[in-house]
Amino acid sequence: MASKTMRRGTFTCLGCLQCNNVLKGHQIFHPQTGKPIPMRGYYTCESTHVVYLIKCPCRLAYVSETTQMVRDRISQHKSNIRCKRTYLPLPYHFHEKGHNISQLRFQVLEQIDPSRRGEHSVKTLRKREASDFRTQGTQS
Ligand SMILES: [Zn+2]
Ligand SMILES: [Zn+2]
Repeated sequence: MASKTMRRGTFTCLGCLQCNNVLKGHQIFHPQTGKPIPMRGYYTCESTHVVYLIKCPCRLAYVSETTQMVRDRISQHKSNIRCKRTYLPLPYHFHEKGHNISQLRFQVLEQIDPSRRGEHSVKTLRKREASDFRTQGTQS
């Protein structure tokens, strides 16, 4: 049924401070190629054990992984930015560019099977981290 495909993507939990920052949609756009990648699951601000993406207004993307609820991680990122912890890449970038926290968007990319942590997930993460904070679309 069509309703099943519509329940894929990142959704708001409808009750937390991070809901406003959720990047909705059932597709991920590859940070380098801009190619749409369909999402495989249903995620909310309350999802745990996820790989998530933070997107800023200048289209840079930051990919990381957390075992906590993604909204708790986002809240930590926001407070790092607010407290000007510029030794961290995200706050540094937001301050350098004069971005506002309300412009930050996040999206869950995929859920990690907790029992498989340490094998495949960390490897994928490492691969992804290599592409952190690189501008997209230099090729057109
Ligand atoms: Zn929420
Ligand atoms: Zn930016």
